[in-house]
Amino acid sequence: MKQLALFEQPLPVTPIAPLSMACGQNQFWIKRDDLLPFSFGGNKVRKAAEFYKEIKESGADVVMTYGSNSSNHCRIIANMAAAMGLQCHVISPAENREILYNTRMVSQFGASIETCPVNEVAQTIENRKARFVKEGKKPYFITGGGHGNPGTHSYVRAYEEICAQEAQTGIRFDYIFHASGTGATQAGLVCGQLLAKDEARRIVGISIAREKDRGREVVRESIEAYLGAAYERLYRDEALVFDDSYRCGGYGKYTQELLDVTGKMMSEEGIPMDTTYVGKAFWGMLQYLGEKEICGRKILFLHTGGTPLFFDKLVL
Ligand SMILES: *Cc1c(COP(=O)(O)O)cnc(C)c1O
Repeated sequence: MKQLALFEQPLPVTPIAPLSMACGQNQFWIKRDDLLPFSFGGNKVRKAAEFYKEIKESGADVVMTYGSNSSNHCRIIANMAAAMGLQCHVISPAENREILYNTRMVSQFGASIETCPVNEVAQTIENRKARFVKEGKKPYFITGGGHGNPGTHSYVRAYEEICAQEAQTGIRFDYIFHASGTGATQAGLVCGQLLAKDEARRIVGISIAREKDRGREVVRESIEAYLGAAYERLYRDEALVFDDSYRCGGYGKYTQELLDVTGKMMSEEGIPMDTTYVGKAFWGMLQYLGEKEICGRKILFLHTGGTPLFFDKLVL
């Protein structure tokens, strides 16, 4: 197994840059996790860096994961496995096989892609694991999206990083907004806040797919799993804000208004945002601030990556 120098040490701190735009006299900053220096960056790099340690310790020789044709997570895991000299096997739903940049890169990194109907995913994963074991291999399975305690932990660390940057600059953010999907990013940020007893600010997860009840419950379960015995003492329901009002009809869907916002972010700020995750969350944040008449606040938006998805839309 080859070592990856980048993941053998703490990841570099990602920049927090001010935006020129104004909205309701709020001031905006953006934390550029899309610039993490591995495989086009994004939150899946932070998560992968934690899984890297687990894979190494486990002595696995094949990395397995799950994700769709548009999955940033699968791209980064396939890239990491290739760099480590490990075999990679991706299980993917058969329902949408459009070839996107992420799909293409997963193949180019040498991963095998096995498709199955979405309702047979759990069984397919179990069968494939058993097959690998029977062949004398040692598989390591990563849940779709890098869900699980290592993924959560990576965003507890990111929360600590934000606090350290605040201490350095003297800027204190009243809000942190981000795109919430499988929920590990939000679970990590909220755990970071609960552990720091940093109650004054709000972390707002803008749902990019899930409806409120289920989406929120998955984040809460991840928080409980991560905090363990400290959960009862630390958890507060108000700390978990998961808003499903800005989904534009579901995963991957978008509106002209959303496109106008991402177009403006690129031309006026030089920041690419895809419509599935980051652009949707950014647009959702602007609606949220307007609807709730939030004014004169310092607001941090977390850019969680998805750059290849930005390019998918550019060539349409
Ligand atoms: C996966 C992903 C998210 C969502 O992160 P979760 O931890 O799954 O909630 C947000 N933005 C981008 C670009 C992603 O790839």
